[in-house]
Amino acid sequence: MKITTDALIIRENNNIGESDRFVTALTRDCGVIRASVRGARNLKSRNSTATQLLCYSRLTLYKGREKYIVDDAEPLNVFFKVRENLDTLALAQYFCELAAVLAPPEEPAEEALRLLLNSLHYLAEGSRPLPLLKAVTELRLLCQAGYMPAVAACAGCNAENGGWFSPVQGVLLCDNCHGTVSAVPLSPSVLAAMRHIVYAPFERCFAFSLPEPEALALGDVAERFLLAQLGRGFNTLEFYHSIT
Ligand SMILES: [Zn+2]
Repeated sequence: MKITTDALIIRENNNIGESDRFVTALTRDCGVIRASVRGARNLKSRNSTATQLLCYSRLTLYKGREKYIVDDAEPLNVFFKVRENLDTLALAQYFCELAAVLAPPEEPAEEALRLLLNSLHYLAEGSRPLPLLKAVTELRLLCQAGYMPAVAACAGCNAENGGWFSPVQGVLLCDNCHGTVSAVPLSPSVLAAMRHIVYAPFERCFAFSLPEPEALALGDVAERFLLAQLGRGFNTLEFYHSIT
């Protein structure tokens, strides 16, 4: 079966001694897939550039019984500026590793792809604090995958002014209710930002601002929630923290 779909390359794996490249791609129509790329190790091949990590490309795929084969790849955006700085490159690689885990395999993934493309666009543009982009990407990917935090009201008494968030339970708690639950304090503006990210329509999820210290606090709480829910770490996240 022949399929043409747009995709972001989220993992690239070159096996020594073979002429094909193996990639993981976040595709619009087939979600996360693993594929081999014909002739990608030939540097003159167009497929070589268009199937590098972080490349957004139009792929022509053949679906075999066990795997996909990329027959042709046309680059649409190589996100060159993201690669110019180590911190933006490291964060982009973390977003790719997250998408590989959280985006749906083998089913349409329009929203996850749009989220990643927007995140990479803002990383390239350099106009927004990195912790803010990180929090939006983490929380929206989690929401899409079914891990939506309940931040509308306190889980104990329904008060709207909860000042605490439990990463393990994924709920908001107020001063009276957080008791012995392990919870992270939230300032009103960080809570407002979390609510915006979780509940805003997709087109508006990046449309807010926070001063740098609060963007860092938002990034911290989003990351704690993500790590608690997924119960695992990410090498690319550790690398990002080691350089920032
Ligand atoms: Zn309460």
